[in-house]
Amino acid sequence: MRKTYDLILRGGHLTDPANGRDGLFDIAVAHGKIAAVAPEIPGARALEVIDVRGKRILPGLIDTHVHVSPWIGGGCGHKMLALAGVTTALDMAGPVTGVIDIAAAHGVGLNIACINYVRPKDTVSGEDPDTAELAAYLDKSLKDGAIGLKILGGHYPLTPEASARTIAAANARGAYVAFHAGSLATGSNLEGVREAFQLIGGGACHLAHVASYCRGQVLDAPAEGEEALALLQAHPNVYSESYLATINGTSGEIANGVPGSRMTRKCLEIGGFSPDEAGLEAAILAGWCQVNAEDGGLIGLSAGPDAVAYWRNRKTDVTVSFRVNPPEPRLRIATAKRPDGSFAVDSISTDGGGIPRNVILEFGLALVKLETLTMREFAVKTSLNPAKALGLKNKGHLSEGADADITVVDAAAMKAAMTIVGGQMVMFNGLVLGRGSTIITTPEGAAAVRGKGLAALVVDPAATPFLRMRP
Ligand SMILES: [Zn+2]
Repeated sequence: MRKTYDLILRGGHLTDPANGRDGLFDIAVAHGKIAAVAPEIPGARALEVIDVRGKRILPGLIDTHVHVSPWIGGGCGHKMLALAGVTTALDMAGPVTGVIDIAAAHGVGLNIACINYVRPKDTVSGEDPDTAELAAYLDKSLKDGAIGLKILGGHYPLTPEASARTIAAANARGAYVAFHAGSLATGSNLEGVREAFQLIGGGACHLAHVASYCRGQVLDAPAEGEEALALLQAHPNVYSESYLATINGTSGEIANGVPGSRMTRKCLEIGGFSPDEAGLEAAILAGWCQVNAEDGGLIGLSAGPDAVAYWRNRKTDVTVSFRVNPPEPRLRIATAKRPDGSFAVDSISTDGGGIPRNVILEFGLALVKLETLTMREFAVKTSLNPAKALGLKNKGHLSEGADADITVVDAAAMKAAMTIVGGQMVMFNGLVLGRGSTIITTPEGAAAVRGKGLAALVVDPAATPFLRMRP
């Protein structure tokens, strides 16, 4: 008998908000696509049947803020994302050429998009690049395979004017653009958020990791969260995500005796350490700063003398984390809604990848357990909304004909049991099996991606509905 399906997932509890499905279903996959969803699909018609009774089935998790670049995150991030149940991710910094090289060398079967950073004296000439320079850099970024640009604000600020010009240049091309709030005039805090909304104006922009600006530097942290939410509610043109982790991730790199990243200097001050090289070393010894250290193909958190040695051995060019995210705004920002019932912050992200905090399931399902989010709402925030933002029409839902990107969840353990991408088993019970990567790119970047031997998933920037994802 000829087999109709490559795979059937049998008897799991499917939650698929786009199709209004929330119950026990069999899901059949053929040629990388969802072929059928029904209460019962005969197993004789499939090459393989996997019993997933007792498991939750979700449209594949999409994390719109990760790092898998040579600059931050690195190759381990692919494996870490697959283990966390993530099927598609947006690298929020680049450089895109490095992200693609890493995806080719370390890919485990995930879909990866990238936006390229606008960094003074690195990718642009200085802190105040003009429109022509920004447009040329955007052109090059798109040709190299990126879907747009990232303003590094709080880490490596531009002038307010150049930040606004970056957003305008991306909007003019229909390219993606994301903003880590902050400029030469403000910081990575509520003042930076207030300024960001002024600079964005009526344009389209992705405001990165909202909770990270609400650490009590300007008002008390919960009040900062409320103000950020009010600004987002007043600006439906802004797509936003926020993470749930306690720790942040920033650069440990020292330049001229001080951390190059403003954010790192700020974190040292918050912990009562001097914002210089000696202060960073003392903070690592004391455990306030945790070095992101590789061990066995994964990256974990490390402090103490061994961590100092790891940081020194790599000439300080490592990512570090501080426990700087207070709980109240994190939780409130994850669940707050607009009066129309949509979420004020569109997505739950992680700022993870190679930074060890891929906790969408681990912490997000805690919100479901607390009944502050329903499982349906969790799926909206972790798959449906992020897919819309990236312009991925065939992802974020498990309609017949959609990409067979599926996360199978052990809800009791609050972790992923299987990660399935395009019908392929990428991760099964903690074993990462996938190979290669698919790069989400624009028509201009497809040749560069294919030239590196990777599959290209081409999105049309002009139709990318992150600009207009709300009705
Ligand atoms: Zn980030």
